[in-house]
Amino acid sequence: MKKFSALLIFILLIPFSVLAHDEEKKKAEDKPDQWTIVHAGTLIARPGEAPLRETSIVVKNDRIERVMNGYIQPEALGNDAAAKVIDLKGAYVLPGLIDAHVHFGDGKYTEKRGEDTGEATYRMLNIIENANKTLNAGYTTVRNPGASGWAVFAYRDGVRDGIFPGPRIFTAAHTIRVGADESDGACYDVSSCKKAVRRQINMGADWIKLYATCSGSKPCGKEHAPSVFLQEEIKAVIETANTHQIPVAAHAHGTAGINDALRAGVRTIEHGSYNDKTSRALFKSKGAYYVPTLSVQDRIVEDYKTATEEMKPVMEAFMETHPARVAAAYKAGVQIAAGSDAGVTKHGDNARELYWYVKIGMSEAEAIRSATIVNSEMLKKESDIGSIEVGKFADIIAVSKSPLEDIEALSDVGFVMAGGQIVKSEIGE
Ligand SMILES: [Zn+2]
Repeated sequence: MKKFSALLIFILLIPFSVLAHDEEKKKAEDKPDQWTIVHAGTLIARPGEAPLRETSIVVKNDRIERVMNGYIQPEALGNDAAAKVIDLKGAYVLPGLIDAHVHFGDGKYTEKRGEDTGEATYRMLNIIENANKTLNAGYTTVRNPGASGWAVFAYRDGVRDGIFPGPRIFTAAHTIRVGADESDGACYDVSSCKKAVRRQINMGADWIKLYATCSGSKPCGKEHAPSVFLQEEIKAVIETANTHQIPVAAHAHGTAGINDALRAGVRTIEHGSYNDKTSRALFKSKGAYYVPTLSVQDRIVEDYKTATEEMKPVMEAFMETHPARVAAAYKAGVQIAAGSDAGVTKHGDNARELYWYVKIGMSEAEAIRSATIVNSEMLKKESDIGSIEVGKFADIIAVSKSPLEDIEALSDVGFVMAGGQIVKSEIGE
């Protein structure tokens, strides 16, 4: 009998569920505008500038429609639409943060999986898990410079098309590196480097990532290590990327690699551990950005305990030099674009990068500016993201303590809205 009634219910439900589906579809086609009003006690609308008190941010669908003085009510909008009001009167409200350097594709799902066990598919699970952690930490946009495989392009497109929430993402796939095997990203002369870059572009890259020096986790990652590419090869990479107005990000630790990449015209230097006076002058004259990934220091301190005797002096040099060189670059007026290297560091702990900036002498406001305004300009997306201003995406976060007094307040983000959609509301309901 029980079985029978379950079946009956099932049969009865079919036409209704079909109807409900049609109804939903119809609604989606002429969806009414969605209005939200955020009451912000303290609003850091443009980080680096004085905060505003007691304001209302009016959000229409995915964009910011107005920013007004005082706490306005839905009636004041002058339309019949029902607006949702979010109470952040006791909070500090700021634009969604931007991390210039994450690797979403690395994680537990691909460990020990080869092509024949669906590595690429499982990589997508890493991406989804890591992207969720990042979004919930208040990072509504990321740049992903370097990935194994193409899954990250599919994830980017899914977020862009609104299939699922996620940080908006600008990404490179395989890093262009010196290598004579036929794998993606490997190249060894001008012609093969052009080919390697074109392959990345054809597959959908927003950025090209280049390994201009040895890896920092190898014994060759030293101050006076030579550039691994010939100057003509770096130039070929940049010129090829330029044919699609795609910028190049160069991983570089040693001084020669940093300076060669800057001379050739890369848009960003990643890590830049041994930048010198010449590098700083080049950054400024070329209008390039420095992505320090200083929170990797947290990881080095940890890894040092179990490091080989060969690696120990390399790590000691990083611990001693990297923070000081980032400080010197900042003082010299180099544009610092906040990037954490999450993947090497923990996904979701992205704000540790800003903690490090304050530790080396930046003000809290400047550290936040680096992760918002500066990163939006580095990405050339300043008309869409980086501040809470009319016309931009409604990427809005809030914390309960002032991040202008204690940068670690950003390690506990209680409210996240991405493109007008509320993702997290531990505070503000
Ligand atoms: Zn990296």
